[in-house]
Amino acid sequence: MFKKILIANRGEIALRVLRACREMGIKTVMVYSEADREAKYVRLADEAVCIGPASPRDSYLNMPSLISAAEVTDAEAIHPGYGFLSESADFAERVEKSGFVFIGPRPDSIRTMGDKVHAKRAMIAAGVPVVPGSEGALPDDSKEILRVAREVGYPVMIKAAGGGGGRGMRVVHTEAALLTSVAMTRTEAGAAFNNSEVYLEKFLENPRHIEIQVMADGEGKAVWLGERDCSMQRRHQKIIEEAPAPGIDRSLIERIGERCAEACRQMRYRGAGTFEFLYENGEFFFIEMNTRIQVEHTVTEMITGLDLVQWQIKVAAGEKFTLRQRDIRLHGHAIECRINAEDPHKFTPSPGKVTNWHVPGGPGIRIDSHVFSGYTVPPYYDSLIAKLVAFGDDRDHARIRMDIALSEMIVEGVKTNIQLHRELLQDENYIVGGTSIHYLEHKLAQQNA
Ligand code: ADP
Repeated sequence: MFKKILIANRGEIALRVLRACREMGIKTVMVYSEADREAKYVRLADEAVCIGPASPRDSYLNMPSLISAAEVTDAEAIHPGYGFLSESADFAERVEKSGFVFIGPRPDSIRTMGDKVHAKRAMIAAGVPVVPGSEGALPDDSKEILRVAREVGYPVMIKAAGGGGGRGMRVVHTEAALLTSVAMTRTEAGAAFNNSEVYLEKFLENPRHIEIQVMADGEGKAVWLGERDCSMQRRHQKIIEEAPAPGIDRSLIERIGERCAEACRQMRYRGAGTFEFLYENGEFFFIEMNTRIQVEHTVTEMITGLDLVQWQIKVAAGEKFTLRQRDIRLHGHAIECRINAEDPHKFTPSPGKVTNWHVPGGPGIRIDSHVFSGYTVPPYYDSLIAKLVAFGDDRDHARIRMDIALSEMIVEGVKTNIQLHRELLQDENYIVGGTSIHYLEHKLAQQNA
């Protein structure tokens, strides 16, 4: 096992990785930007290294700075967390070339999955169902583009092969708009992702977002660890996640989960990963794979009893992969609410000093947060200040515990979305379960009207 790991991230996930390391008896190096100097989790690490100014470009995205921090502290491995450089194949490559272990997939897996056209092809090969659409990237030939779209049927979506973060996508409702939309998406994609390849998919009108968690050893062994429903979103940002997904046939999920594990075996995938699907009318359609630990990994941990971050570390260290599918048992139900420092109406970030911070507790409640009374939420990064997770025997139990926990939580000094979460937890359609990815936006639009 590693003796020392460098944590190349910040905030709650940096603390989450630090906790996993401490539990495993591994020493930690925490990097921080000048804006995070006063964060308490930095002081919990065995060593801390300032990697640059507040701007992410100069600190958390600064590869030379991160690698020299690992060099001067004699770390053996680097955990990238999520966001920042976690899905950069170039970073993973530089880490390994510099003689450190990257706690994540091999660079070539990250590269393949980062290109959505390649990813889709790999999924088809493994028998994972994908959204119907063009076979690979769209050609330049207008006639052929029109033909493919007609065959798929409108509305269609034009997507950039290199897209991410909800960017590089365009919905097309009519044939008249198709060619201009393709051209526009190509131009934007070239500028934004340095890759002007685009592809075409059927646009699903009212899907749910369901994803499958996997863990694999890099040598052909892989398991899937249940699913998560992350349909409660605003602007493609998830705000509530839960596991299992309510109201979906278990045998169907098992078939899909097994295909995902099989895809990992075929790719000799290493570490944690998530297969994201749209689910509509009883069918799953793959949209993309995330090659990192995700924000919402917590709900899977609650229902499987596994520590996914520790498993990432064990796999990276080449420890024996003892996870077997037949031993994986899903137990109970878990819900996560992402507490953001943001204006509850305008959804703009609300950085500043947290003057009062009181978090809930009790049976089945988990809080992943780096915040404390007196902490200043910096304006430079993501506005996530806490992940509140409730576990219960079943969905109603978890939901009731979450509702109580939200009512106990006190955050003063910055604005938060706690009230919105309370309203959603009591929403009649949420209580039934199974709302689509558009539900929250529609609800908010109605409230505004
Ligand atoms: P990104 O990498 O930018 O997150 P995704 O492929 O995961 O891109 O898509 C982001 C979101 O866009 C999805 O969660 C879904 O809301 C929407 N989306 C993507 N593809 C489709 C599709 N074929 N039909 C309907 N919505 C889609």
